[in-house]
Amino acid sequence: MPGKMFDDRGRLKIPEMNHERTEGKEIEVVLNAVYCPEGHNLISLDHLVSGYPAIVVKFSGRKSGDGLLALSAILGNSAYDVLEGEANPDEMLDLSCPHCGTPLDVLGSCPCNTDAVTVMAYLYPVKDPRQAIAFCNVLSCPNSALFRSGEIIRLEQGRT
Ligand SMILES: [Zn+2]
Ligand SMILES: [Zn+2]
Repeated sequence: MPGKMFDDRGRLKIPEMNHERTEGKEIEVVLNAVYCPEGHNLISLDHLVSGYPAIVVKFSGRKSGDGLLALSAILGNSAYDVLEGEANPDEMLDLSCPHCGTPLDVLGSCPCNTDAVTVMAYLYPVKDPRQAIAFCNVLSCPNSALFRSGEIIRLEQGRT
């Protein structure tokens, strides 16, 4: 399956992820810090999802309205918890930092929906898209579970 690396808007095309591929040998990777573009840690010790402090982001959508969302900080785990407001699981949400309101940076487009995007949270307080985790902005999408952006970038480069 060839295909272009970027979509019409110049965004990296993110393939559908298959989180089952590791066949039981899975080692749970839990993130304890991820950062917004301004360097705020999005992991909140006040909210647990799947037993670990979760990534808390602000969401906004035409149907969903505004609210606060806690995402599992375990790689490949798509669990989430709506802390404030009501998030429509099929809507493309605008996601931003709850501390400064800066929108999360976009890594690429997601195949689940024409306008869906994967957004990034950085592993260090520097904006390096290769050292980030990414997830789709549609909660019902399998790509809404965290994945490593660096793996996607390598995968795409290997294809060209
Ligand atoms: Zn921030
Ligand atoms: Zn998606």
